[in-house]
Amino acid sequence: MSLVNLLDPSQRVSFLEAVQLGLGRNQGLFFFDLAAPWPQLDLDQLLAMPFAQRSGHILAALTDNEISPTRMSELTEQAFNFPAPVVPISATVSCLELFHGPTLAFKDFGARFMALALAAAQRTAAQQASPPATTIVTATSGDTGAAVAAAFYRQPNVNVVVLYPEGKVSPLQAKLFTTLNDNVQSIAINGDFDQCQALVKQLFNDPEAATQLQLNSANSINISRLFAQVCYYFEAWAQLPQAQREHTVICVPSGNFGNVCAALIALQLGLPVKRVIAATNSNDTVPRYLQNQQWQPQPTQATLSNAMDISAPNNWPRVEALLNHNPQLRNKFSAVAISEADTIKATQALHQQGYLSEPHAAVAWAALQQTQQPEEHGLIIGTAHPAKFAERVEHLIKAPVELPAALQQVLEKPELNLRMNADYQQLKAHLLKQSQNKG
Ligand SMILES: *Cc1c(COP(=O)(O)O)cnc(C)c1O
Repeated sequence: MSLVNLLDPSQRVSFLEAVQLGLGRNQGLFFFDLAAPWPQLDLDQLLAMPFAQRSGHILAALTDNEISPTRMSELTEQAFNFPAPVVPISATVSCLELFHGPTLAFKDFGARFMALALAAAQRTAAQQASPPATTIVTATSGDTGAAVAAAFYRQPNVNVVVLYPEGKVSPLQAKLFTTLNDNVQSIAINGDFDQCQALVKQLFNDPEAATQLQLNSANSINISRLFAQVCYYFEAWAQLPQAQREHTVICVPSGNFGNVCAALIALQLGLPVKRVIAATNSNDTVPRYLQNQQWQPQPTQATLSNAMDISAPNNWPRVEALLNHNPQLRNKFSAVAISEADTIKATQALHQQGYLSEPHAAVAWAALQQTQQPEEHGLIIGTAHPAKFAERVEHLIKAPVELPAALQQVLEKPELNLRMNADYQQLKAHLLKQSQNKG
């Protein structure tokens, strides 16, 4: 399927072009051309394959074989080289744990695949020995910066700049991207996350900066991240006991709605899951919208599940396009908002059942509890390792949370970040000077 700009359907691009462009004209998102037929997948044949190989086949089909299944499987073998286990929590609920990658959050899947897809796109576009370097600028409130920095670390022809609000990211999260150096530069901004995001937007809207730096953003608007995430829903299906599969309700803790959009794409591709729930924290623009059809983002509230503190989810236009396209899918989709008090209770209840969790997955578990029917099997999506939020979790469950060895090591490394005020001209001058030095 070719991809179209949702705001300007006259702009059609290939998968690799979309990877390199990130966003389309007028800031439009690239998405499937919904008038075209969907690829036909043979579910039984796919289920017999190991995760990486199966993912290669799914992704090749999604790109209309722009990248062949064999070549795509080589990419997924490299990108998805860590497990995504379905772990039982109780007789009727399990968790798809997506946090066993290098930075312990599900964003590793999307970021690692994007890194390889971008390298392929650069080779194709340039058709020369040394394609121009791309600069990836990303603002982070924690997990994106870590996953993107790790995924692109030491990749040729790519420079990464991570902007983060000084003092507003957990020390552990910061260490994951401030200690790398080489082609990864981290800049602590004296401001909040919104100011960091505003600086990135200004760069993208500045033709001089955009051209000279060959800017790309690695946030979840990049179609490659979304594609990568479709794959693990098939993997969950492969691991679930057969008796449970068709009764499965997937509940996704949601912020920008990329992950839940990927789940809906998996259903659209024929994964016969019963239904999908998007769980939000008190930043509940979508649950309110589904009730009253009014899109009314409110000021973002800080919560315990801070990676979901987003009131204007940037993937919503894709979700909505898909739901409008397929009314059956719309009937299988709902959204539930969970309060802080219920997030705390859920984290504690999970611990009492013997499952160590963290606030994001706890939001999903609480949302599932509200609507799960007796015959249904709940699958919550574990988006981050509890150790990433160790202090918070320890405070809630009154028990220690152990750090995995890899994180322990990172904690001992020195931070190499620059510091800057939220001053656009200063940031731009710094980045342009640096790109000239690199020639
Ligand atoms: C990014 C993130 C989310 C939200 O995912 P979206 O795709 O933006 O909806 C949820 N939990 C954690 C831990 C995250 O890092």
